[in-house]
Amino acid sequence: MAKKLGFGCMRLPLLDPADQASFDKEQLKRMVDTFIERGFTYFDTAWMYHNFQSEEVLKKVLVQRYPRDKFTITSKLPIMMIYTEAKQRETFERQLQKVGVDYFDYYLVHSLNENTYKNAVKLHSFEYLQQLKAQGKIKHMGISFHDSAELLDRILTEHPEIELVQIQLNYVDWNSDSIQSGKCYDVICKHNKPVVVMEPIKGGTLANVPEEVKSMFKQSEPDLSVASWAIRFAASQPQVMMVLSGMSSYEQLDDNTSYMQDFKPLSEDQMALTTKAAEIINSTIAVPCTACRYCVKGCPKKIAIPEYFSLYNQKKRFGKKGFVTEVAYYNNLIVDHGKASECIECKKCEKICPQHIKVSEVMKDVAKEFEG
Ligand code: SF4
Ligand code: SF4
Repeated sequence: MAKKLGFGCMRLPLLDPADQASFDKEQLKRMVDTFIERGFTYFDTAWMYHNFQSEEVLKKVLVQRYPRDKFTITSKLPIMMIYTEAKQRETFERQLQKVGVDYFDYYLVHSLNENTYKNAVKLHSFEYLQQLKAQGKIKHMGISFHDSAELLDRILTEHPEIELVQIQLNYVDWNSDSIQSGKCYDVICKHNKPVVVMEPIKGGTLANVPEEVKSMFKQSEPDLSVASWAIRFAASQPQVMMVLSGMSSYEQLDDNTSYMQDFKPLSEDQMALTTKAAEIINSTIAVPCTACRYCVKGCPKKIAIPEYFSLYNQKKRFGKKGFVTEVAYYNNLIVDHGKASECIECKKCEKICPQHIKVSEVMKDVAKEFEG
């Protein structure tokens, strides 16, 4: 059975952190060598990663140095920046050249949400991927996804030809009302497709948890890193085929590969510990919204109140510069909902909120955070 750790090529080691294309190639080669030596094979890249350079650097550090049957490569169709079928074809052919391969093992329509899905349907992207598969230019077709479980269910129902789904999944987002990792996972299980996990450590932030959580994990397994809990949580879900980790240093790779070489799923007690850890992390929340949704129906501006609060809490809690997933989710939500800045302060929601949250006041902060 393939080992469940994939090399995410979105956060590769750099010589200058301000220059996304300044790869530390020597370190990267060493990382690739150890990864392969330890029996791992899966590499995940995309057109726009590292300022459009990730695919090319992979060619240099992996493709030109190893036989093709030693590794599998996933790349993705950048549907958010393609507007004609001709450009779609041209982009794919260019990607093969950039990576230096004749075929991709997995090729995904990148980052589907309400908007990009409409574009993919318009450009017949799923039909195009099926053609590529018939021609042997890709072995498997799939999607990566960043929206609600409801939309995911619709896409998988409308396109049963999709073979695998990549989603954000980690123990903190598992029950999140906005990211919906757990609900999305359940939908994929319902459709009986394999799951590829992205953001298992939430951009590195679950390697840096509150002291209380850290000591809880250390007490249970003194020799294992805090980050290992996040990776192993994701890998322990039975439908998960691969967990991607965006490894930025040899040390991270050494750590990840050490416990994933002979992976053992978390026990029930350990799973319970991650639930507790999520509770502790969540207790640092800025807005105590329980997502009961009592307020939602009455809002005259159709503002997605609990979803915005969930994203606001995530952003406040982790507050990591450059970590923009929450902003992307916010931008998805405002397609069909009023923006936080459109709140007219009617306070209908406040009258009904069992948590007595001053919604109209917090909305101003949400607007500042996501629209400013
Ligand atoms: S106060 Fe704002 S968020 Fe609340 S119901 Fe009125 S418009 Fe909607
Ligand atoms: S009523 Fe209050 S707790 Fe419930 S979803 Fe709305 S803001 Fe959150």
